[in-house]
Amino acid sequence: MNKNTISNQELESKILSGERIDSTEARHLFGWDILTLGRLADERREQIRPGNEVGFILDRIINFTNRCEAECRFCAFHSKAGQREVVELGKEEILGKVAELVRNGGTQVMLQGGLHPDYNLATYVQLIRSVKHAFPQVYLHSFSPAEAVHMAAKSGRTIDQVIAILKDAGLDSMPGASDLLVDRIRSKASPNKLTTEQWREVMDALHRHGLKSSATMTYGMGETLEERIEHLGVVRDIQDKSGIIRAFIPWSFSPSMTEMDDIPPATGVDYLKIVAIARIFLDNVVHIQAGWLTEGMKLAQVALAMGANDMGGVLMEEQVVRATGVETRTNRDELIDLIRNAGKVPVQRDSEYKVIRGF
Ligand code: SF4
Repeated sequence: MNKNTISNQELESKILSGERIDSTEARHLFGWDILTLGRLADERREQIRPGNEVGFILDRIINFTNRCEAECRFCAFHSKAGQREVVELGKEEILGKVAELVRNGGTQVMLQGGLHPDYNLATYVQLIRSVKHAFPQVYLHSFSPAEAVHMAAKSGRTIDQVIAILKDAGLDSMPGASDLLVDRIRSKASPNKLTTEQWREVMDALHRHGLKSSATMTYGMGETLEERIEHLGVVRDIQDKSGIIRAFIPWSFSPSMTEMDDIPPATGVDYLKIVAIARIFLDNVVHIQAGWLTEGMKLAQVALAMGANDMGGVLMEEQVVRATGVETRTNRDELIDLIRNAGKVPVQRDSEYKVIRGF
């Protein structure tokens, strides 16, 4: 062994002692067996988020339009993919959906849409204002960095100005929606969507204006293992500088119904390794979400023993993943049972990860 190469035993001790691991060490972990990785990730989870609580939130995604001028190759949601029917929800329809969420005890709304060619900053500001006017108690964790860049381009504003205006209108936080932050893959899978550098710019602007975010990871689009770590490196770096990332949510690319349907879907072991390695590597992100929507309820449940500590949202009416043919749905009681059955304590949380009630 090269004297500069850390041994497996040294790497294990490093993880157990809570020390930060570097990118080479993280890449090395992909070669480890799943049980060892899961055990170490659970140890790291215990260091960062001790205890047995697993959170979930009652929320609703409202995909208000599927018209999108980016037409990403990895996306089955935009209206031209499979010639889907165009969706452009009006104000009354959107408010009706929020009202239904509130009646069901929900606390968070995620407004997310395609990059509609005719929507500009004013369209989004009006949307925020109407929801906040009718339901001031609802937390708006909405839009995405791609939409922020789109708003800036359509309105002749800077990203910084867009974020300031959205915040002033009532936006509470913005999901990180990061896909894979590797430009080699982005240039093939989503050449018309924002670049990694623009994603960083949006995160910096959110930080400057005191808004929180999250980060996701869509893996399985033909990237190398080194590129998976590169993505995690961008997220960790932004978090070191800003502290705005409340949670990290990895999910596998669902190739069905996309222009990249020749790529075989990732496996369950791939998913659990990503969760575990992310938990160990992202020592500055408190919450790792198990992605039941894309991975299914059973695999998400296993992820709770391998570093994940949150089940995300009930996500009434999500359309983006459903467009790929994945039909996983859940409800509050099913999530509670599933968390309990994993030997954990279910808690309903708010958007800031504060516990609302335990079960
Ligand atoms: S991933 Fe987003 S930006 Fe790309 S086509 Fe789909 S909706 Fe549009």
